[in-house]
Amino acid sequence: MADFAPDSITFASGHYIGGTVVAEGERIAVARPSDLVDYAELPVASVEVVDRAVTNATQAVAESGWATRPPRDRARAMRRWADLIEERAEELGRLEALGSTRPIAQAVTGDVASVAEGIRFFSEWADKLGGDVAATRSDQLGMIVSEPYGVVGAITPWNFPLSMASWKVGPALAAGNAIVLKPSELTPFSTVRLAELAVAAGIPAGIFNVVQGTGAVTGDALSRHASIAKLSFTGSTRTGVAVMKAAAESGIKPVTLELGGKSPQLVFADADLEKAASCIAGSLLANAGQACVAGSRLIVQRPVMAELVDRLKAKLSTVTPGPTWKAATGFAPIISEIQARRIDRILAESHRQGAECLLGGGRIEGHNGAFYQPTLLAGVTAETAAVREEVFGPVLTIQAFDGEAEGFALADHPEYGLAAGVYTADLGRALRAMRALKAGTVWINRYSRTLDFILPTGGYKSSGIGKDLGRQAVEANLRHKTVLIDIGG
Ligand code: NAD
Repeated sequence: MADFAPDSITFASGHYIGGTVVAEGERIAVARPSDLVDYAELPVASVEVVDRAVTNATQAVAESGWATRPPRDRARAMRRWADLIEERAEELGRLEALGSTRPIAQAVTGDVASVAEGIRFFSEWADKLGGDVAATRSDQLGMIVSEPYGVVGAITPWNFPLSMASWKVGPALAAGNAIVLKPSELTPFSTVRLAELAVAAGIPAGIFNVVQGTGAVTGDALSRHASIAKLSFTGSTRTGVAVMKAAAESGIKPVTLELGGKSPQLVFADADLEKAASCIAGSLLANAGQACVAGSRLIVQRPVMAELVDRLKAKLSTVTPGPTWKAATGFAPIISEIQARRIDRILAESHRQGAECLLGGGRIEGHNGAFYQPTLLAGVTAETAAVREEVFGPVLTIQAFDGEAEGFALADHPEYGLAAGVYTADLGRALRAMRALKAGTVWINRYSRTLDFILPTGGYKSSGIGKDLGRQAVEANLRHKTVLIDIGG
């Protein structure tokens, strides 16, 4: 992987409607997280532009045959798309790295590679979920027929722009829908390139549309558009509430919500501490903690606390921050100065509440972008700001426990339930933890996703409703029609 010059990258700045880039709307500046330089202007899609995108998508569903063609044809087009994504991995990766927090080496070999494989995974469902024949009286035939919704909407966050888009588009298209997707206004451009490649691969124009803009204008218009039959949102819990409200106010539609997290890492004294430390540090360093599933609360059995903290300090002390366009960069910038100030605020409040910094605690100086030191915070309680709030930075709070029940109780967060990690050598305890933890994903003696897209992801409590990935994500893009026929005899 080579370095690249940020100014050498060209891209289309606009919406992508019916297979054409449309640069219509009031313009806002877009900054690169690596150096906070404004590098492009983005048009904001008004209510009218969003309406045009939805109308276009509705027409494409009616005219292109995307929903009615043999499902395996849909699967083939999606596989071609995945191949094209792989062929253009370097180009897509550069565009992703340019405007987001994803370092180029990780963007190409991690994000883009996973997007291509994810699209392949979803393509394979195109002919697998047709419906069921029900057990009825023998003189009747009962069927449950699966049908696509028509046009679905999606809104994505900035932290993994291409991956988050693919998690929405993949299942929507495999199920036979068209989609209108709004990426984050902080990271808007790679999603349009993804959509252009879909059309280049033979997916009809108008099936994958992108509208650009702010949440307040474009996101709200999409959420409340009456012809969007189903909505899928990934972002903060606060915005999720607004999206659900707007969706309800504009005609009832199902809403999938993938929201924030404050996930615990529960380490028992019998755990392989070196492995636990690697997993916990890996989770904290990944995208500099700007991941929904970041395992940001360490809950450790008292006898091994000191040893685990020492191991964590060793692993977190050396990071390789730098611009995302440098191949040697391994540690991501914070997305914006506003977000970095938010981390400052949570840490200052936590210190006032008695938290003690064992490592880090401030900015990494000497960079144009905002970079944050991996930070370990002890002396915290359930009330401490850094334990309560989703920090979205490389900050790990540390709490000790004695008995198993106390550990389970501390792991439970009053608001969030996205993921949890458990480290123990005792199988029975691992399974008791799996049952006790109120989280949508429980990782045992590991802490990260794999390329097993069959495993769905989603939250309990205010971390969300419904699932991305897995069969469940495709099923969520289908609705079911009940048919009962008198067949006589
Ligand atoms: P955000 O909620 O600020 O924004 C997410 C998206 O919603 C953006 O596209 C934004 O423009 C849009 N938006 C904002 N206000 C809106 C409104 N009123 N109506 C409609 N759309 C609106 O989140 P973010 O800062 O971009 O992303 C970080 C958050 O995303 C974190 O909370 C993180 O945990 C969460 N996240 C969750 C998952 C998951 O799978 N659960 C994955 C990634 C990120």
